[in-house]
Amino acid sequence: MSSILRRAVLGMPLAGLAAPALAQAFPARPLTMIVPFAAGGPTDTVARLIAQEMGRDMGGSVVVENVAGAGGTLGAQRVAMARPDGYTILCHHIGMGVIPSLYRRLAYDAVNGFETIGMVTEVPMTIVGKRDLPANNLTELVALIRQRREGLNMANAGIGAASHLCGLLFQSALGVAMTTVPYRGTGPAMNDLVGGTVDLLCDQTTNTTEHIRAGTIRAYAVTTSARVASLPDLPTANEAGMAGFAVSVWHGLYAPRGTPADIVNRLSTALQHALAVPALVSRFADLGTAPVPAGQATAAYHRQFWAADIARWRPVIEAASAYAD
Ligand code: ASP
Repeated sequence: MSSILRRAVLGMPLAGLAAPALAQAFPARPLTMIVPFAAGGPTDTVARLIAQEMGRDMGGSVVVENVAGAGGTLGAQRVAMARPDGYTILCHHIGMGVIPSLYRRLAYDAVNGFETIGMVTEVPMTIVGKRDLPANNLTELVALIRQRREGLNMANAGIGAASHLCGLLFQSALGVAMTTVPYRGTGPAMNDLVGGTVDLLCDQTTNTTEHIRAGTIRAYAVTTSARVASLPDLPTANEAGMAGFAVSVWHGLYAPRGTPADIVNRLSTALQHALAVPALVSRFADLGTAPVPAGQATAAYHRQFWAADIARWRPVIEAASAYAD
């Protein structure tokens, strides 16, 4: 999962150039942005930050609604089956690249059911544990896991969620199998980690950073090749002894298939404007991430990137027969 954002840039025409009359009329009422995970998690955090700025840019509001469950497929289904008028959009993550192979029976078309709007961000992950775990660093954690094996458990945000995949990679790197505890999103998983009812979690910096700083959870490593500026004392997994362990999570926006191009263009433009707002850029930085460059917050770049990610995951899932259904 390393180097997930490819750097090619493809342009899209700006809003208003394709069909000015329709674009000018849009939006005439609030939009709904579906988040396919529970409130309080990374996708929710990212969605709420961009929804606010996109609403401002379009002179209206974008209301976030959490439709959580089934590894992010329920929320995706809601959008794939919504009226293709631009009023219902989806903020999803790397799961969009994984779900088409992981779930063989879905009630919606996980590949052709959507128009891409643009990429949003790529977020590092962190390996974190409950506060009273008797391990001060990754080496001690690995020793503890080897010693206790099934005694330690790992929370995740559902089958196929980024935390699930990161957890599997982590366990496979160590050659152990831990009990996994699935939730409907990182929000509730994190609540239980802070409460001490689960032991470990691998999840995005957007929602682990503040807990790490507050000392309500323990942090063992960040899963990028370089340290993140917002958590300068946290070693990379590589530095901490897990050579080559690198995982990050991309987020993107989608509309139902058949949404008119000029409306998609307007949404892409609003996204690009949102990602350039200084307050949003600095909030993202504080949470260990950054907006994608404007050229990647486009439907064309996003479509190409997403297709490549689906192609990247399919052989991995098929080879492991790791199906969710
Ligand atoms: N971070 C979660 C995941 O593991 C999802 C979320 O709540 O945003 O996929």
